Amino acid sequence: MENKIICPVCKELVLDINKVDKGEDGFNPCNHVMLVYTDALSFEFIHIDESMESVAKDMIEKSAEDDVFLNELMNDFAMKHDNYEIIELTTSGMSCGPCGNTDYVMFKIG
Ligand SMILES: [Zn+2]
Repeated sequence: MENKIICPVCKELVLDINKVDKGEDGFNPCNHVMLVYTDALSFEFIHIDESMESVAKDMIEKSAEDDVFLNELMNDFAMKHDNYEIIELTTSGMSCGPCGNTDYVMFKIG
């Protein structure tokens, strides 16, 4: 199973779940990483690029108002903007039995 997210632009290894599972720092955002959301933690963005602060703020407000998940709003955003791409990675953690989680990384590709 693939446990990594690689930047489609610069091929940097952005997220390495094998490392994260071992408690190591497996998150290494390159310049193209705009937003990172994971449903494993508290349903919040875990990384927001400076250029995305107002977009992220709008998404967080809309998420709370309309009761939608942030990854759906990220998808909407990426669909409306050709130069953004989301890569999803779903992992089933060894540490927590049957529970799985999905990480969503939005890249700026142009
Ligand atoms: Zn990159």
